[in-house]
Amino acid sequence: MPTIRDIDGREFRHTWHVNDTRRITIIGGGLAGPLLACLLADDGHEIHVLERRGDPRADGYDGGRSINLALSARGLQALDRIGLKQTVLDTVVPMYGRMMHDEDCRTVYSPYSYIPGEAINSVSRGGLNCMLLDAAQARSNVTLSFDIDCTDIDVETCSVTYDDGTGSTTILAGDLIVGADGAGSMVRQAMHAVTPIDSGTEFIDSGYKELTIPAGDDGSFQLEPNALHIWPRGHYMMIALPNSDGSFTCTCFWPIEGTDSFANVDSPETIQAFFSTHFPDAAALMPQLVHEYNDNPVGPLGTVHCSCYHHEGTAVLLGDAAHAIVPFFGQGMNAAFQDCLRLASCLSVHEDQRDALKDYNATQLPDGDAIGTLSLSNFIEMRDKTASPLFRCIQRIRKQLSMNFPSLYMPRYNLVSFTTMPYANVIRHVALRRILVSAFILGGMAIFILIVLLLLGTI
Ligand SMILES: Cc1cc2nc3c(=O)[nH]c(=O)nc-3n(C[C@H](O)[C@H](O)[C@H](O)COP(=O)(O)OP(=O)(O)OC[C@H]3O[C@@H](n4cnc5c(N)ncnc54)[C@H](O)[C@@H]3O)c2cc1C
Repeated sequence: MPTIRDIDGREFRHTWHVNDTRRITIIGGGLAGPLLACLLADDGHEIHVLERRGDPRADGYDGGRSINLALSARGLQALDRIGLKQTVLDTVVPMYGRMMHDEDCRTVYSPYSYIPGEAINSVSRGGLNCMLLDAAQARSNVTLSFDIDCTDIDVETCSVTYDDGTGSTTILAGDLIVGADGAGSMVRQAMHAVTPIDSGTEFIDSGYKELTIPAGDDGSFQLEPNALHIWPRGHYMMIALPNSDGSFTCTCFWPIEGTDSFANVDSPETIQAFFSTHFPDAAALMPQLVHEYNDNPVGPLGTVHCSCYHHEGTAVLLGDAAHAIVPFFGQGMNAAFQDCLRLASCLSVHEDQRDALKDYNATQLPDGDAIGTLSLSNFIEMRDKTASPLFRCIQRIRKQLSMNFPSLYMPRYNLVSFTTMPYANVIRHVALRRILVSAFILGGMAIFILIVLLLLGTI
């Protein structure tokens, strides 16, 4: 094999003593990038984070989507590892359950868990991004660069060519490139150009648009603050998450075209009429409804499919760059943070960087696929089933089971949101449980029929 040298003339190494310092370039300073920078810096590596946008701490946050996010167990575990958990928790609004709203303004509340204090947390995306960047900057072995325009990523020589906005071109060499650059990942494209790994993005026919329910005049919440609100309406729905300033960010998940879609609710009259008919209690709290609806874009929703998350020992993908998913389980960021923990752990135990990345891939690839599948199925559940009395009855039975036999039964939602069990194991666990329950019910029925037949003297 020919010797590969990086741009500094240094021979490229695959094998490391676990304590050696590596130069790691992270592309993307969104949510996962700075968190990973902290983890790897704490292991003694030299980290350079390159971010395309400006510094949100100086320029204000311009994320362009989902103002707030549900942060749960997996995300909290990772934040704990870098010492940021309590700081972040001090800023969140906990949501202990779902509040369903029907078209007659009636509400039904359903707790996520009967374990006291168990909640998912509404956190500001911009606020969290700034806290993570502060944490990364506080580590002396992390360099953060903003307004970076990457013009070339060479995954074989581990070098990144970029323009830092001053017009001069820099080539940054390193020992590992990490793609934390979101759903449209340039690192994924660079890897795909060498070995095809990108299986494409599967879009659903719904998109999303964000709206606001402002705080009341006295700054108070105008809906129950400690709940995730859902207006399920069959093939479309709206949800709302609380913000710490008393407002709610509502997200409409509607078809892009067709009946009850963004395309046919498009004039001030139809917007107002549609909301007054289908979301009347929310519409009454949205003074800027028409203005916001017209101003805010419709974002696409899709799942990124990728057949491998690494290139040899030189480049690796995580978070949305590897497995962007539809947001219906509130897990994209949580999954990205879990990737960061796993990658840092693999790099700290393997001397051969290829082995570390292979090990990372072996667990995170099935997990990325699993959370993609779970998120799509939760879309159906939230949109179509939460309004159904039968579904709510089944939910109550599940809650009773989990309350009375917590070590035997935990609902799927709780396994995903309140544990760190790998997503692929959650799917296996739930499938096995269904088989056992079906066998139990069928067995019971067979015994019942047998007894009836015996009593009738037929056998
Ligand atoms: C409507 C909606 C609601 C959501 N709700 C939730 C939720 O409740 N809970 C949850 O856990 N997740 C949620 N998510 C998912 C979550 O937003 C993502 O999974 C998460 O942001 C992924 O983090 P990331 O760091 O991988 O990518 P991102 O946060 O997208 O960060 C990528 C960064 O890379 C930068 N970048 C891109 N290209 C380049 C380049 N070429 N060079 C340099 N920098 C580059 C970008 O500017 C960005 O800062 C939601 C998503 C959407 C769309």
